[in-house]
Amino acid sequence: MPEMPEVEIVKRGLISQIKGRKITNVEVRYQNLITGDVPQFIDIVTGTTIEDIGRRAKFLLIHLDNGYTIISHLRMEGKYRVSADPAMIDKHSHAIFTLDNGQKLIYNDVRKFGRMQLWKTADLANNKSIAKLGPEPLSDAFTFDAVKPRIMRHRKDIKTVLLDQSVMSGLGNIYVDEVLWNAKLHPETPANHLNDDDIRNIIKYSNEEMTMGIDAGGSTVRSYLDSTGHAGHMQDFLHAYDREGTPCDRCGTEIEKIKVGGRGTHFCPHCQVVK
Ligand SMILES: [Zn+2]
Repeated sequence: MPEMPEVEIVKRGLISQIKGRKITNVEVRYQNLITGDVPQFIDIVTGTTIEDIGRRAKFLLIHLDNGYTIISHLRMEGKYRVSADPAMIDKHSHAIFTLDNGQKLIYNDVRKFGRMQLWKTADLANNKSIAKLGPEPLSDAFTFDAVKPRIMRHRKDIKTVLLDQSVMSGLGNIYVDEVLWNAKLHPETPANHLNDDDIRNIIKYSNEEMTMGIDAGGSTVRSYLDSTGHAGHMQDFLHAYDREGTPCDRCGTEIEKIKVGGRGTHFCPHCQVVK
């Protein structure tokens, strides 16, 4: 699944490729891609100009000049391509936006889990998916005072709590494993056992991981590519995720893989102990 840094990179790519372009035609080939009425979606989007592209957690926000925004979630395998080459369109292309420069913005999604929803831009904060998101790393809202009570109210394991997008948003499976390795916290530690230093570490390392992820061009542990087709190299910097059986970069103990809350979880059994 693309994580927040990947979505940020997709956003930056789209800004450079499609910002300011007019959408002259919209074709939706997979009706369930659109949450809501498909003909209405096509009607409202066609003829608009793309004012800007924003992001909230893992949601891409394609702001149109008619007061509407396309809220786009890539889920597992969703990808955008910008191309004038008809060969780029295949059976996995579920939405095709023709632009006024002859190029097409093509949404591909092998697993069909991604979704798009049209919403009034001025009312985005009240969209059900956006409203429930907790503060996200690298934002002004991501403070000790905001994050601490959101974590400490849970007795569940910290891994599951950090994946809960209503607690804090933007971190997926890869980065949660990395944050917990950096913070020396066992993924099964009950969230309400954490102390203030642990919370500060989670904030610090979440910010660092997001920055590093963006700088590295995202992770390619799965089949992720950015909107220009470039592969990222974040996997070169991972300490825990996908490292089972290899020595911990801190103590040399073999990284283990377990299931926590149903998710594959990687950690060092020596330097990450349950509190
Ligand atoms: Zn270790």
